[in-house]
Amino acid sequence: MKVSVIGASGRVGKAAAFCLAEESVVSDMVLLSREKSLDQIQGEALDMKDALAAKDIGVSITPSSNFENMEGSKIVVIAAGVPRTPDMTRMDLAIPNAKIVAHYSKLVAKYAPESIILVITNPVDVMTYVAYKASGFPRNRVIGLGNHLDSLRLKNLFAKQFNIHVSEVHTRIIGEHGEHMVLLLSSTSIGGILFKEFSQYQSLDLDAIIEKVKKAGSYVINKKGATEYGPAFAISNIVKTILNDEKRILTLTTFLDGEIYGTNDVCLGVPVKLGKNGVERIIKVNMSDDELKEFKVAAEAVKSSTQELMSKLPEDL
Ligand code: NAP
Repeated sequence: MKVSVIGASGRVGKAAAFCLAEESVVSDMVLLSREKSLDQIQGEALDMKDALAAKDIGVSITPSSNFENMEGSKIVVIAAGVPRTPDMTRMDLAIPNAKIVAHYSKLVAKYAPESIILVITNPVDVMTYVAYKASGFPRNRVIGLGNHLDSLRLKNLFAKQFNIHVSEVHTRIIGEHGEHMVLLLSSTSIGGILFKEFSQYQSLDLDAIIEKVKKAGSYVINKKGATEYGPAFAISNIVKTILNDEKRILTLTTFLDGEIYGTNDVCLGVPVKLGKNGVERIIKVNMSDDELKEFKVAAEAVKSSTQELMSKLPEDL
């Protein structure tokens, strides 16, 4: 199966591509970049091929600036975006990134019209909306990475707190990939036992934990300049789930049309059943009153940023 990564010279793009190239279900990988980065992705492709030979993996890797090469892709990952500088507001970043995401989404619609778009570019919930509108794809085929990565970060924190293997923790963050993330405690379990049944639960500082998850990305960026392995493995989870038609329930950004407590016309992170058709079902979660209140705040915040952004973009994107 063929997968393309746009913005492949970037730190997330190349890490994701390398991770995906290792997946046996991927047979063809196309690294797509602007002309100015072509040399770099040619080098990346050769380096990856050398590494993969050591593992007897014979995947085809094509570096290219010709976007027609994405033809036949089952999934196209969009990881292109301008870097955020300290003086930039979220909206300052959203406008140039929306133009990039819209431009690439239209190319995807032209050259890989049957594909699924996976948006990584931040602010990802808003960018997923842009990709949905610009591509004209049905909503099941436009998804964004955000809360899946947040949920993995939370899983790690709980595993450490409870001194338990990470695979035993089932938890979710929904809402915005950003300030308004919502920890779904009511659906958190450890080893299949509801979280609240554990005696340690009472002594946990949940506010501090959620703050840690919110700041996890910036913390890594301050230390090493970018997040790479976390997003890359989260992307590979999503791509593999789709290509193998695994029907796993992952928390992804998707366009909502009233399924979750009437929330509509906004892209937000919610649990979805993921398979070969992309989002095959949006899972209606039962939230506690507090969770619902937070989710509504997240929905309002993302919807208002989305509307503000869309009003500042040309009508034809
Ligand atoms: P990066 O290293 O700066 O790479 C971004 C890539 O975007 C560049 O290498 C370039 O790719 C492309 N690009 C830059 N300016 C462009 C422009 N004006 N027009 C078209 N393409 C342009 O950034 P990164 O660390 O990989 O992060 C990429 C994006 O993912 C960012 O928006 C980041 O915030 C986001 N992100 C999201 C998550 C998530 O969970 N959703 C996690 C991590 C990062 P080419 O030169 O190859 O064209």
